[in-house]
Amino acid sequence: MTANPTTPTLNDSYDLVVVGAGACGMVAALAASDAGKSVLVLEKLETPGGNSTLSTGSVPGANTRFQREAGIEDSPEKMIHDLLQTSGSHEAENLVRLMAEASAEIVEWLVDRHDIGLYLITDYKHVGHSVPRLHAPADRNGANLTADLQRACERAGVSILTRTPVVGLLHEDGAVTGVTAELSNGQRQDIPARAVLLASNGFGANRAMLERWIPEMVGTVYHGAPGSTGEGIEWAEQLGAALANVRAYQAYAAVATDAGDILSWTTVELGAIIVGPEGTRLGDESVGYSAFAEVVARQTPYSFTIMDKRIFDYVARNEPRFVKIINLDCVQEAPDTAALAAYIGCDEVTLSATLDTASAAAAGTAADQFGRTDFGQGALEPPYFVCKTHPAMFHTQGGVAIDTHARVVTPEGRPIRGLYAGGGVAAGISGQAGADGYASGNGLSTAIGLGYAAGRHVGSREE
Ligand SMILES: Cc1cc2nc3c(=O)[nH]c(=O)nc-3n(C[C@H](O)[C@H](O)[C@H](O)COP(=O)(O)OP(=O)(O)OC[C@H]3O[C@@H](n4cnc5c(N)ncnc54)[C@H](O)[C@@H]3O)c2cc1C
Repeated sequence: MTANPTTPTLNDSYDLVVVGAGACGMVAALAASDAGKSVLVLEKLETPGGNSTLSTGSVPGANTRFQREAGIEDSPEKMIHDLLQTSGSHEAENLVRLMAEASAEIVEWLVDRHDIGLYLITDYKHVGHSVPRLHAPADRNGANLTADLQRACERAGVSILTRTPVVGLLHEDGAVTGVTAELSNGQRQDIPARAVLLASNGFGANRAMLERWIPEMVGTVYHGAPGSTGEGIEWAEQLGAALANVRAYQAYAAVATDAGDILSWTTVELGAIIVGPEGTRLGDESVGYSAFAEVVARQTPYSFTIMDKRIFDYVARNEPRFVKIINLDCVQEAPDTAALAAYIGCDEVTLSATLDTASAAAAGTAADQFGRTDFGQGALEPPYFVCKTHPAMFHTQGGVAIDTHARVVTPEGRPIRGLYAGGGVAAGISGQAGADGYASGNGLSTAIGLGYAAGRHVGSREE
């Protein structure tokens, strides 16, 4: 990897210039470089990683050998069915098939060819998946995924220039011919390329674009990477790209407020409930962390996630990120309902009634008032553990329309020559609008899947 030389030595031209060093950009770089192409990755911030580093690094793969070894039967068709059931119909359904059919090959290629540490998560299913199919770093920390990708780029001889924002695209006769970058020495330089991949993520950090497409989330806390300012989408739009699913996004229902990090959703999948400041539940938590974020945001700016010792111990044993939150004193033990109510600052009788009703639903002796049927390990039992949480906007899930080679297309479906897009810049697979179409792994699926598609297509080009 090139480490920010003051005056970087650049080639006269590249087969592929990648805008953004997140998962999409680095995977594309590896795929193109595997095919012998010259690749340069430009990253505007000090370090590579973007949202991919903030993620849990969970990547779907349908019918991987890791699943077969674990005795899990899966197939691309099953994954397509699962994803469309969660998302409903949308404007990029061709990408769902592409992601599902390529997913196993990509996970195995990352592990076998590039030594990326991904392990099948078998101990529970994820939102929107009928079987365990997410593959993640051992500690479920996306920073390890991006660190592995960086090391793989280094081994492959791919240069990643950080603190080097791309500020515009070069184009001629409707074809993209390179980028203009601002080098770390402050000078602007045109860098010719036979292909450019926009891997600069979506527009979660751009208020004006949120106002245009997702106004309902403008006032919500943004919990994504600062680099997601949407310029890639704007440049492509200016060149005539169509947009697709641009009003879809992923939110998260339970950021641990005092830790500034996500509270693992495993807690809820194992049976935790979420109550508002009054001590009453807000809805069916099992709809998933993204869909439930909208439910919480509509009712209260903050909430409390309540679990019990079995859940606390299990997640602490398995997820170092949860341990960090515990070590910051953000998960409090409450021996009984009185202590729990005192911590939340709500009426004990109300909270007691909430816990009793939820317990009855979890035990199956009464229907849940919100229709939740999956309470993981069953009714919560004292001692309780509680974490103050709030909903947040994570990342946008729509963008420019692309074909199955990740080439950016016009409204007529014609590729814009030389221009590719993937990850958060491109149309996502999480429905047409809103936060409830997001299945776990959809973000990295289109980052890694489309990066792979773009890199392979550039790799197969003769010119
Ligand atoms: C807290 C959190 C948890 C998540 N967990 C998961 C998960 O477990 N599984 C999952 O599938 N998804 C998850 N997601 C979503 C996932 O992180 C994103 O969908 C995915 O990382 C997007 O990848 P990307 O490569 O497109 O963008 P990024 O990883 O954000 O990379 C884009 C890069 O481009 C750079 N850039 C931007 N503009 C320019 C420019 N002009 N010039 C040069 N560089 C530029 C940015 O600085 C950034 O480094 C999570 C998101 C968050 C916020």
